[in-house]
Amino acid sequence: NWINLTEFFNHIIDRFEMTKAEHITFDRNIPKSPIYVDIDEDKITQVLYNIISNAIKYSPEGGQIAFRVKENNEIVEISISDQGVGIPKNNLDKIFERFYRVDKARSRNLGGTGLGLAIAKEMVEAHNGKIWAESEEGKGTTIFFTLPSEQEQEDDWS
Ligand code: ATP
Ligand code: MG
Repeated sequence: NWINLTEFFNHIIDRFEMTKAEHITFDRNIPKSPIYVDIDEDKITQVLYNIISNAIKYSPEGGQIAFRVKENNEIVEISISDQGVGIPKNNLDKIFERFYRVDKARSRNLGGTGLGLAIAKEMVEAHNGKIWAESEEGKGTTIFFTLPSEQEQEDDWS
């Protein structure tokens, strides 16, 4: 299903904006022009939900969450950055594994099963995209993912 990703992403962020704690602020850096992607909307909604829930869950009091979209050579890159506790470098790939949680004690207090990012990875890869994390301990985390995209919607005769 071809949809405009910028509009779709903004709607999802709007929903989180209505329910988030007041001390957390959102910053959007999303192009005004449409970027078309051929996606299963329910699945990519789940991907975004899992990533944004983590960003909120691991954000400190007064933290900012930044949402970015960039398009280049028919690949769109979406990123969600927080100013939370961060993830140690040697654990960065493991967070996409099933049931993996960085700090068992800390994570237990925050709740969850350790499946959110494993599910996100599976769904992004099913759309021929990639997902990865960059993080600095004590400074914050950015989760990136890509999807194949088009800036102009294709005429489809089929
Ligand atoms: P679930 O998503 O199933 O409720 P979860 O959030 O613990 O549980 P994942 O979303 O898969 O599981 O994340 C795996 C682990 O990666 C988390 O337990 C946490 O340790 C770490 N992590 C994920 N996102 C962040 C983030 N934004 N900041 C810091 N740590 C993170
Ligand atoms: Mg999670």
